[in-house]
This record gives sequence, structure tokens and C-alpha cells, in this order.
Amino acid sequence: AKQKGKSCYTLFNQKMYKQAIWRLELENALRQALERQEFTLCYQPIVILTTGELAGFEVLVRWQHPEKGTISPADFIPVAEDTGLIVPIGTWILQAACYQMATWQIRFPAAKALKISVNLSVKQLTDSSLITQIKQILQETGLASQSLTLEITESMFMEDISAINRQLKRLTALGIQISIDDFGTGFSSLSYLHRLSVNNLKIDRSFVSNLFESHRNLNVTETIIKLAEQLGLEAIAEGIETQEQLHQLQAFGCNLGQGYLFNAPLSAEVAESLIA
Ligand code: C2E
Ligand code: CA
Ligand code: CA
Ligand code: CA
Repeated sequence: AKQKGKSCYTLFNQKMYKQAIWRLELENALRQALERQEFTLCYQPIVILTTGELAGFEVLVRWQHPEKGTISPADFIPVAEDTGLIVPIGTWILQAACYQMATWQIRFPAAKALKISVNLSVKQLTDSSLITQIKQILQETGLASQSLTLEITESMFMEDISAINRQLKRLTALGIQISIDDFGTGFSSLSYLHRLSVNNLKIDRSFVSNLFESHRNLNVTETIIKLAEQLGLEAIAEGIETQEQLHQLQAFGCNLGQGYLFNAPLSAEVAESLIA
């Protein structure tokens, strides 16, 4: 028994050790990834649910690791946030996304009406140089601020709400739109939602993709859509995978959505082919 206990302990340590090594490797590789241009952007269409018309794209970053292959943002964004590397990486993403949309708008008149939606982490949002930086990116790329939407998560309001809202006000004053991402999963922000400088509520895909799996998912989804309507905000459903989910969301009065039913995140080339 003693021996068994000992080997379990060793195995456990080995696992922890491997995780720690992987984490260190990831951190080091992440530091070099920007210079080595290993990041690429994917574009997932956001569509008008009643007509199927394209409304814009959400930008999703991918990391092409030279040995490990494609690493999911869910795996490296948290490390980038912990190390502060998210700030330079995030700047690159914003710059590349705005440049891409500006290029599409020059080449295709139809792209003038489209919005590009970029995920922002809390470290970026609270960075004091964000406003100056965004102004500069818009100026350099020539993208109108009205074409840019920034997605922030509900959990960011657990920090200093008034400081976050002051920053949001500066962004919306520029003409940029704000979406609250993963809405419904964080701690309840209902009591101050009406005071926030935001435009859209994105219903988390955990509710939408499993819409009929529980009454709770149906109720939460309907409530968010009605709440958005009452506050004069736009509801965006993410993770729409089936026709049934689409029809239910339409019946609830949801105008915008995205998901595998329409498109997975696409390469720039494929995304471009949907515009013209
Ligand atoms: P998110 O912002 O909630 O993005 C939506 C995620 O859902 C994306 O995963 C997308 O590929 C996936 N998705 C889209 N439609 C469907 C669907 O119909 N079914 C299912 N099951 N999934 C769907 P992805 O690309 O792996 O991104 C994961 C998360 O990483 C994002 O969640 C976001 O929080 C973060 N992230 C991605 N790109 C960036 C970025 O440029 N900056 C920052 N700060 N975070 C990013
Ligand atoms: Ca998002
Ligand atoms: Ca989301
Ligand atoms: Ca999410």
C-alpha cells in the first residue's frame, strides 16, 4: 500500500511538473510569437437573423505555433493576460483587424455597412494608453470609428465599475460600439446595466447551443433579449448551431447572431468572398 501511495504521488508530481514546464515553454514562445508573426486572424460572420444578410465579422485570433500547430486562444489568452503580453498582442490584433476592414471597405462598397468586432481583455481596457492608441489606429488605417465594435466580458465589471465605465464612455464618445460578451454567465450586472455605456449584449453560447436542453437556458435567453429591447440595446446570439435554435431566437425577437449554422470562423480569403 505504501509503495502504491508513493507511485501515485510521483505520478501526480510528474503531471504537475509537466504542466509547469509546458506553461513556461508557452510563456517563452508567446514572447517571440509576435516578432515571428505567428498570429493570424479568423473572421466569423455576424448575420441579421431575419434575412441572413451579413452584418459584420467577429475577429478571433489563432496562434500558429511552429511545432505545436494551431493553439486555441482559450489556451494562450489566459497566459497572455497573466504575463501582460496581451497588451502588445492585443494592439497587433486591433491594428490588423482595422486594417483588414478598411481594405475591404475600399475594395467593396458593400463592406461600408459592415462592422468589425474585436475582443478586448480587461488589461487592454484599463491600459491608460488605449484611447490614444485606438485613435491612432483608426487614423492610420482610415477606418471610421462607427465600423469598429469592441467586445468586453461581463466579468470585467467585477473590477472598478466606475473606472471601467469612464473608459467605455471615452470609447463610445469616439463613435465606437461596445458589446458585452458572454452575457448571462458573469455575476449579475442587471442593477447597473442601464448606466453603462454599451450598445450590444452578446448571449453566451452556453445558453444558445444548448437552448432546448433546459428550461433555464430558454428562460435566460428570452430574458436577455427582452432586457436588451427594453434598454434600447441590440441582442446578439452566439453559438447558433441548428435551425431550431435559429427559429426560437427569431421568435424571441433577436436580430443578430453568429454560429456554425451560418459559418465557423473563416480565413480572410473566405470571409472576403462573402462580402461582395
Ligand atoms: P468568445 O469571444 O466567446 O468567442 C466565441 C468562441 O465561440 C470562438 O472560439 C468561436 O470559434 C466559437 N464559436 C463560434 N460559433 C460557434 C458555434 O456555433 N458553436 C460552438 N461550439 N462554438 C462556436 P475561439 O475562437 O476558440 O475563441 C475562444 C475565446 O478566446 C473567445 O471567446 C475569446 O474570449 C478569446 N479570444 C479569441 N480571440 C481573441 C482576441 O483577439 N483577443 C482576446 N482578448 N480574446 C480572444
Ligand atoms: Ca467575443
Ligand atoms: Ca462570447
Ligand atoms: Ca466565451
